[in-house]
Amino acid sequence: VARIAHLDVDAFYASVELLRRPELRGKPVIVSGTGPRAVVTTASYEARRFGVGSAMPTARALRLCPAAVLIPPDFDAYRAASRRVWQIVGAHVDRVEQVGLDEGYLDLDGLVSPRAAVRRIVVDVHAATGLTVSVGIGPNKLVAKVASDAEKPRGFVVLSREEACARFAEASPGLVPGIGPKTVARLDALGLSTLGALAGAPEELLTERFGPNLGRELARRARFEHAGTVQTVREAKSQSSETTFDTDVGDRGTQERAIADLARDLAGRLGRRDLRGRTIGIKVRLDDWTTVTRARTLDHATNDVEVIAPIALDLLRAYDPPRPVRLLGVRVAGFERPPEPRDAPHGQLQLAL
Ligand SMILES: [Mg+2]
Repeated sequence: VARIAHLDVDAFYASVELLRRPELRGKPVIVSGTGPRAVVTTASYEARRFGVGSAMPTARALRLCPAAVLIPPDFDAYRAASRRVWQIVGAHVDRVEQVGLDEGYLDLDGLVSPRAAVRRIVVDVHAATGLTVSVGIGPNKLVAKVASDAEKPRGFVVLSREEACARFAEASPGLVPGIGPKTVARLDALGLSTLGALAGAPEELLTERFGPNLGRELARRARFEHAGTVQTVREAKSQSSETTFDTDVGDRGTQERAIADLARDLAGRLGRRDLRGRTIGIKVRLDDWTTVTRARTLDHATNDVEVIAPIALDLLRAYDPPRPVRLLGVRVAGFERPPEPRDAPHGQLQLAL
């Protein structure tokens, strides 16, 4: 069972703020920008009790919880806290895939007592940073991810695939990452309003209604089947940024803005890791789950957004998605070797090769 853990810091931005403003403990706290179109980035659990959630317009959050204390985000502080968390995780586990400032997957293969190791990580992170985390452990990333969310905050949930199927059988299919509100509504119309019902639905029905790609994927996800492995930065042959839209996007302007944002995010990440790649690619998933990739290879390696973004946009325009788009991604691959430490003796390196 215990092959992969998903670790997720509880109410991350709000928790970092509460650590340096202990006078706000126990109060509803919302981390958000100001302005008419601001959205909630994180809410403390006290604010969540009023129905406040991430990505909700701040104006609405304040109507639900007028007593909430509004704090503007301080991303430098969150990045610093995040680095400390992942340093501690990295001291215990070799293979870690960080998927955001506050969450990531841990490959537990090869650990003698994986649960005990993860419990130690939880304790160490709290001791060093004051932050609490929730953990899900399972045979694959999908089970681990859903399990980490099941008993927040301070959750520690270990499930086999079968146990996950049983435990979440009555939950909405929307509980599973990758099944969005629009798909949930279509499943509802078929009478498939729980994961259990979806898992038991004949695959022919699903492929007939949703097409072969999405149909099969829905059936797999409802059974908590997932084949993805933990991708560590060190071994990664490519880096990508992806976004899944809440509702499928047919408008080219919106698609292009998303590609430009993804390119900027990716270039920033590559820059911080001092990685440059020669191949720039895009990934487009249509509303029927057809997934297409396109790439172009340059004669020099880059991590410059001014190079990556125009090429990614060009690839999108050349592909010209024939249907509304569900997911977009930008990818850079073909990394040049990272710069060697200045004192590395060359002869020795060649011997090692
Ligand atoms: Mg979190």
